Amino acid sequence: MSEFVMPGDVVGVAEEFLPGNNVDSDSDGKLRSTVMGTVVRDAKAHIVHVKPIKDAQLLSVNTVVYGRVVAIPNDRVVIVRITSVGSDGGLVELKNKFTGLIPLSQLTNGRVDGASRLVGIGDIVKARVISRGPPYILTMRDPQLGVVYGACPRCGGPMRLINYEQLRCTVCNYVTSKKVSMSEYWIR
Ligand SMILES: [Zn+2]
Repeated sequence: MSEFVMPGDVVGVAEEFLPGNNVDSDSDGKLRSTVMGTVVRDAKAHIVHVKPIKDAQLLSVNTVVYGRVVAIPNDRVVIVRITSVGSDGGLVELKNKFTGLIPLSQLTNGRVDGASRLVGIGDIVKARVISRGPPYILTMRDPQLGVVYGACPRCGGPMRLINYEQLRCTVCNYVTSKKVSMSEYWIR
């Protein structure tokens, strides 16, 4: 039986679930629906979504998307809140926000020990949809895909690209490397 909710209704708590599509967390750790729809709980991935009653705007395979990294559970999967899609004219913001998952194997070509060596929470990444979703499986392996805005792992400040894949924090000067997009970086 499906659970019907209205915008603002509580659909879970942050200790149990990550906010998925059309779900936001409030300051009390309660997860609330942002739309009218039905609740979908992914118990395996610990994500709660709300499927909107109307206006289901879906992403097709190979769509280039932009989103913010919201979690990296066990350093093995990167959870992205997809906010926009890429188009010839730039970025188009999505009305419905989707959740994307980037498995370790899709972060880059070659071996990786941990996801946090390549991306961090708060980064904005450019990625490509490789599954029919939601939740969408994304890849960041293509050279033009990767971090387009880096958040400092130390202070959260914006990071500037100083050379190939090396970033320096504009606030605290901390230097680190990430898997940066070869075609695009927002602060140079
Ligand atoms: Zn910093």
